[in-house]
Amino acid sequence: MIVDAAGKLSRFTERRAVDQFGIQFYEQGACGNVLDFWFFRDGYGGAVTVEGGQSNACFLVSKDALPRYRNKPGCRVTGPVAYDRRESEFLAIGDAAGMIDPFCGEGMRHALDTGRLAAQAVAEGFAIGRSYDAMRARYESERAERWKGKRRLGAIMRSVLKHPRVAAAGFGWRPEAVLRHLWA
Ligand SMILES: Cc1cc2nc3c(=O)[nH]c(=O)nc-3n(C[C@H](O)[C@H](O)[C@H](O)COP(=O)(O)OP(=O)(O)OC[C@H]3O[C@@H](n4cnc5c(N)ncnc54)[C@H](O)[C@@H]3O)c2cc1C
Repeated sequence: MIVDAAGKLSRFTERRAVDQFGIQFYEQGACGNVLDFWFFRDGYGGAVTVEGGQSNACFLVSKDALPRYRNKPGCRVTGPVAYDRRESEFLAIGDAAGMIDPFCGEGMRHALDTGRLAAQAVAEGFAIGRSYDAMRARYESERAERWKGKRRLGAIMRSVLKHPRVAAAGFGWRPEAVLRHLWA
């Protein structure tokens, strides 16, 4: 059995990359017990307090904007990111199966959940003598079923964010109430 858990830059599962990159850096100064989050022209992201009186800042920015950030001291860059991937002959889990939009804050949950689904599909498959392809098909259908709603919502919000005026109007309309319901 081969499980691809190699993350968003996996070389095992072919991805459909988009022109977006993740960046991360530390800044002096804590931001208390709140998560600061911004949507702005270059992308979006947030900062949280970490050890040593510092804040950890993570943003997703467009490829065009990358030169403005990558020379910042200590800035780490990853990408291009991919929300979708092509057919894989492996059991791709987590980001290797296609990233969940970072604004959802669910990437790690997705990685753990799909890892558990893959393990279940394999354990059951061995117990009843399923073929590798049958185990993989079982995993793929369960993964798709469990995550299709959130993936669809992520894709809708991603396209809305391309239109700042529409996004701004949406943010003015208490989106947290909708999101709390949808992401529960
Ligand atoms: C800007 C940004 C902000 C985010 N914010 C959040 C957030 O707030 N909350 C959240 O839950 N998620 C967030 N995420 C997403 C989250 O980081 C990922 O979804 C999660 O880490 C995916 O886990 P994974 O195990 O699939 O991949 P990874 O954590 O990337 O792990 C894959 C590992 O495989 C290793 N690897 C790759 N190739 C090989 C190889 N050939 N051999 C051996 N090892 C290999 C890599 O080095 C890596 O250590 C964010 C992502 C970005 C880009």
